[in-house]
Amino acid sequence: MMKAHAYAAQSAESPLAPFSVERRDVKEHDVRIDILYCGVCHSDLHMARNEWGATNYPVVPGHEIVGRVSAVGSEVTKFKVGQLAGVGCMVDSCRTCAACKEGLEQYCEGPDSFIQTYNSPDKHSGGVTFGGYSTSVVVDEAFTLSIPENLELAAVAPLLCAGITTYSPLKHWNVQRGQKVGIVGLGGLGHMGVKIAAALGAHVVLFTRSPGKIEDGKRLGAHEVVISKDPDQMAAHANSFDFILNTVAASHDLDQFIALLKRDGTMTLVGAPEHPHPSPSVMSMIFKRRSLAGSLIGGIAETQEMLDFCGKHGITSDIEMIRMDQINEAYERMLKSDVKYRFVIDMASLAG
Ligand code: NAP
Ligand code: ZN
Ligand code: ZN
Repeated sequence: MMKAHAYAAQSAESPLAPFSVERRDVKEHDVRIDILYCGVCHSDLHMARNEWGATNYPVVPGHEIVGRVSAVGSEVTKFKVGQLAGVGCMVDSCRTCAACKEGLEQYCEGPDSFIQTYNSPDKHSGGVTFGGYSTSVVVDEAFTLSIPENLELAAVAPLLCAGITTYSPLKHWNVQRGQKVGIVGLGGLGHMGVKIAAALGAHVVLFTRSPGKIEDGKRLGAHEVVISKDPDQMAAHANSFDFILNTVAASHDLDQFIALLKRDGTMTLVGAPEHPHPSPSVMSMIFKRRSLAGSLIGGIAETQEMLDFCGKHGITSDIEMIRMDQINEAYERMLKSDVKYRFVIDMASLAG
C-alpha cells in the first residue's frame, strides 16, 4: 500500500480539504500513475455536493487524469514505467456482459460492476474508489489510456471526460460532413463538442446564454453562435438541425431546442442536472418524428479512438490551470459559467 495526498469533501456542505488515501500495491495487470494533471468536471461538483443523492463520503472527485506511469504489474503489456497514461470516468466493469463485450463498458449490465473512478465500490480495498484529485492512482491497464505525445499534456486531461462524452454521441448519431449540428452550452463539455463537431466537418451552431462567449465560440470552431435567450435568433433556426448535443448542467426548457430539429432529428442530452427538466412537448416530437436521447461518456476503445483523433487533429481543451487549494473557488466560478473552458489542477501543487 502507498499513501497518496488527496482532496476530499467530507459532506455535501463541507468544502474540499486535504485528505490522505491508500493506493493498493500494483497487481499483475495494474499500472500506477503519478498524476500530473486532473481536469475539473461539473460532475465532480454534482457529486461532492450530493446533487445526485448517491455520494459516499468522504469523496475524492476527479476523472480527467493524466500522468506518468511509475510502476507496472508483471502481466502489463501496454505500458512501461515513464510513459504517459490517462484515466477517465471508469476503472473497471464486469467485462463479460453484452455491453462490455461490445466495448460499451459504461453501460455494463453486471450487478455493481460499472466501477467509476470515484464513489464506486472498490473490489480491491472493500471501500469506495477515490478519484484523481490525488497525487497517484492504481488502475488496471485495461482501463488505462495511451496519451498522444504531440499534445500539451495538461490540456489533454479534459479529453478523458469532456472529450469522450461529446465525441461518443457525435459518432453514435453519425454526424457527417455538411450536417447542421447544434451544441448547447459553452462549458467544459460544450467547448469540446464544438471543436470535435467542427473537426468532423459539421456546420456547427453554438447555443449559449452568455453574449460574452460569442467570439470564443467562433474561435473554437462554431460557424454560428446563437444567444439562446433571444426568441428571434432561435426562431430563425426552426426545423433545421440534424443533431443537437445538449451539455447544459441545469434544468431548462428543452422544447426551445427540440423545435429547431428537422424531421427525424435528434437532441441528445449529456448534461445531468440536479433537478429534472420540465417535460418536453409530446406534440413537438410526434409531428416531426423527432427523438430526445441521452448518452453516457464512452467505452474504453472509443476513448482511445477519441484521443488518437484529437492527436491527429491537434485538438485539446482550452484550460485554466489552478492549484489544488483553489478548487473550492473554481467550483463557485463553474456555477457562474465563468470557466474558459476547463479548470485543470496542477497536481504538483498537492505533492509534498
Ligand atoms: P460546465 O463547464 O459548468 O458547463 C455547463 C454549461 O451549461 C455552462 O457553461 C453554461 O453555458 C450552461 N448552463 C449552465 N447553467 C445553465 C442554465 N441554468 N440554463 C442554461 N444553460 C446553463 O459543465 P460541464 O463540466 O461541461 O458538464 C455539463 C453537464 O454534463 C453536467 O451536468 C455534468 O454532470 C454532465 N456530464 C455528463 C456526462 C455524461 O456522461 N453524460 C459526462 C460528463 C459531464 P453558457 O454559459 O454557454 O450558456
Ligand atoms: Zn466528467
Ligand atoms: Zn459488463
